[in-house]
Amino acid sequence: MTREGGCFCGAVRFRTEGEPLNVRICHCRNCQKAMGSPFFARALFDQRALSIEGDTASYPSSEALDRVFCKVCGTRLFSRRTNGTWWGSRWPPSTTAMPLRQPSTSGSRKR
Ligand SMILES: [Zn+2]
Ligand SMILES: [Zn+2]
Repeated sequence: MTREGGCFCGAVRFRTEGEPLNVRICHCRNCQKAMGSPFFARALFDQRALSIEGDTASYPSSEALDRVFCKVCGTRLFSRRTNGTWWGSRWPPSTTAMPLRQPSTSGSRKR
């Protein structure tokens, strides 16, 4: 299955192929602060399954993880393991006030 999403302003678009390795909610302090939210809802994809268009910037929130965001509107898009193996891509299914854009594909998981 192909899933697409993007940032608030549209400067960054991303697409994932296949199914996520897992879908989790992380309540750790770093995720809370980085997301400005009680938790970080994300789906984990192999880096090779993700393609990105547009300009992003990032900062390290820990030694192991970079947080990636849109340079223009600041939407938080991904977290990236700095060992280069996996990307956690923030993916719809949350009911928090995080600025999630709904995917354009149907059949996405609701959580
Ligand atoms: Zn943007
Ligand atoms: Zn966390």
